[in-house]
Amino acid sequence: MKKSTINDILTEYKKVLHHDLTLYGWVKAFRSNRFIALNDGSTLNTIQIVVNPEQGFSEDLLKMINIGSSLKITGEVVESQGAGQTVEIIANKIEILGDNLYDELQKTILQPKKHSLEKLREEAHLRFRTNLFGAIFRVRSAVSFAIHEYFRKNQFNYIHTPIITGADAEGAGEMFGVTAFDLNEVPRNEAGEVDFEQDFFARKTSLTVSGQLEAETAMMGLGRVYTFGPTFRAENSNTTRHLAEFWMVEPEVAFNNLEDNIDLAEDFLKYVIQYALDNCKDDLAFLDARFAQEQKQKPEKDRAKEGLIEKLENVIAKRFKRVSYSEAIDILMNSKENKKGKFKYPLEGWGADLKSEHERFLVEKHFGCPVVLFDYPKEIKAFYMRLNDEGKTVAAMDVLFPGIGEIIGGSQREERLAVLKEKMELMEVDQKELYWYLDTRKFGSVPHAGFGLGLERLILFVTGMTNIRDVIPFPRAPKSAEF
Ligand code: ATP
Ligand code: MN
Repeated sequence: MKKSTINDILTEYKKVLHHDLTLYGWVKAFRSNRFIALNDGSTLNTIQIVVNPEQGFSEDLLKMINIGSSLKITGEVVESQGAGQTVEIIANKIEILGDNLYDELQKTILQPKKHSLEKLREEAHLRFRTNLFGAIFRVRSAVSFAIHEYFRKNQFNYIHTPIITGADAEGAGEMFGVTAFDLNEVPRNEAGEVDFEQDFFARKTSLTVSGQLEAETAMMGLGRVYTFGPTFRAENSNTTRHLAEFWMVEPEVAFNNLEDNIDLAEDFLKYVIQYALDNCKDDLAFLDARFAQEQKQKPEKDRAKEGLIEKLENVIAKRFKRVSYSEAIDILMNSKENKKGKFKYPLEGWGADLKSEHERFLVEKHFGCPVVLFDYPKEIKAFYMRLNDEGKTVAAMDVLFPGIGEIIGGSQREERLAVLKEKMELMEVDQKELYWYLDTRKFGSVPHAGFGLGLERLILFVTGMTNIRDVIPFPRAPKSAEF
């Protein structure tokens, strides 16, 4: 027989009312030696188990029921007497499934008091047991599913691009090397350099920073593709928006131009956020309440104008504001903030790379909605982005979100072989190394476009969390890779 989850029982209680069933979970609370709040991770909610005194449960058994205990319960589903729940279970049988070390438990984060997020991050498995992280990771799971569903519905093929790569020319970020050498005895060539020809792959290899270049090769046959996998950047920036290992979603679409690409990004983001609103109601309500609580503790001027759910709904309702880089620079240069020297990095003018504070000014103060910036100066963007006709800008786009800054970076790609080669020469990208990439421009080259979405930045946005380390189960960051 299929095991029922607590979510099954609570959502389909009419089917099971007055039936006996078996359920499993962990104790969240045990009151008056009588009422157990049981949770199994299938939902934020607990189900109430009533310990029926007529069953004559032994004192020894009842003593072993504590916060955290794992239980198997058999009992009857009945209409609940108390407020706040529809049904409860009158237990006939209670079985303790495993150890729950009472003395050690007293020192853990399972004790019902407030713990800092930093403290919770130090706990490998108990972190998942908390309401907050249960909610975050159920949302993360649902959003990941929605991403696949969106692409599936739109006839994209899911491409698994490699994690170990020999292509180190992309320049998206600092790379982690991959080697099978004994690091105490690294072979060197006559010039005294590390001799990668003797290494496992007979070449220098790294962990991928992006699957884009490989996705472009697949796009050349499959038309619409996307990647969804881990990427790695050895960026030594200890920010709340960067991880050393994060999950990236990268669609790549044949025959799309920049505008199509922006349309895709907007439609995709809205679909996924709507999916979360429709399918993660309890978890989002919990996160919404937590968000509101957190805002209350801030000085009035720093408080968010909207609640979490309200913010998600507003993002879906409004069209993203599309602004060229040049317009954005004008807005920023003429802003009070810039004139009064309020930016930490004063803007030099056209050609400057925008810092997160500038992006957030545009989104949060100036426009008050998500903003898509496009047509960036070619000097500050990657070699593969398509050169616009005026010769100064490329068909790049960044999607900027309130509270987050850049959530998506993308572009129409340079499909003209001669232009691409010239660009690579100027930017000193090795053409020999990337022969396989250049090949895609030789045999039926097509206009195409794509982008990269950092999954964790999207989850930050949807959950209202502020540190990216709190939305990935096992954060990897400088000096931090414990479990
Ligand atoms: P940023 O300027 O914020 O460092 P980027 O320009 O390096 O971003 P891209 O190379 O365009 O970013 O990568 C695409 C997307 O991947 C970004 O829009 C962002 O959502 C996400 N991303 C990039 N670097 C990281 C990181 N270190 N940790 C988490 N997400 C990241
Ligand atoms: Mn970066």
